[in-house]
Amino acid sequence: MSKSVEPIDIAGNVARVRDGIARAADRAGRRPEEIKLVAVSKLVGAERVREALAAGVTEIGENYVQEAAAKRSEVGEGARWHLVGHLQRNKAGSAAAIFDMIQTVDRVRIAEAIGRRTEADGRTMEVLLQVNTSGEESKFGVRPEEVEGLLEAVNAVRGVRVEGLMTIGAWDPDPERARPEFRLLADLARRLEDRTGVEIKWLSMGMSHDFEAAIEEGANLVRIGTGIFGPRPR
Ligand SMILES: *Cc1c(COP(=O)(O)O)cnc(C)c1O
Repeated sequence: MSKSVEPIDIAGNVARVRDGIARAADRAGRRPEEIKLVAVSKLVGAERVREALAAGVTEIGENYVQEAAAKRSEVGEGARWHLVGHLQRNKAGSAAAIFDMIQTVDRVRIAEAIGRRTEADGRTMEVLLQVNTSGEESKFGVRPEEVEGLLEAVNAVRGVRVEGLMTIGAWDPDPERARPEFRLLADLARRLEDRTGVEIKWLSMGMSHDFEAAIEEGANLVRIGTGIFGPRPR
């Protein structure tokens, strides 16, 4: 028997996710157009990424710098690429050359390494500060009480601009478990805006299993992988 790739209805999945976004936005009294969908394609081939773009997706999220570099050149133009995985300092320069937004800045040294590259290229990188809202030791991200200091330090770096906050909710099949973390990030964003005058344009929170709860709590950027591309190879 020949091994075949399981068929996946990517356009149908995108439509279902968009319905979920619309329902959650409606419950929260917000407009669905305010909410940006990032299709997270780690371990997914370029062909499927193209199918997602054909279904109207405009933002692609990746976790690994090298994988993204190869895929982006295969996929070609027509999307904005987001780094949603942890970034090591020795990869920051190459990440800066590949991505349109880096969502996982949690140290000023990383921002400096990104900025060196973007400045040299005459660009500015949009970055989000990753916040550890669960307090789990294993998680990347800055602690909530340290975000204000990091925001000011990163915004002083040339070649980068903080556009918002990102968090990964504690993983639990029950989306209600992550809701307090989403609320914490939204509260933090409001407080930061009041205290620093910096506009927190994006709140990146919510994945396939909990994006509706995240939107209800204020997310305007959701990161969906399996909900669009199906289960990842393990
Ligand atoms: C993989 C990943 C996602 C997508 O997760 P799904 O559960 O497949 O939707 C979102 N955000 C980050 C940071 C990820 O690493």
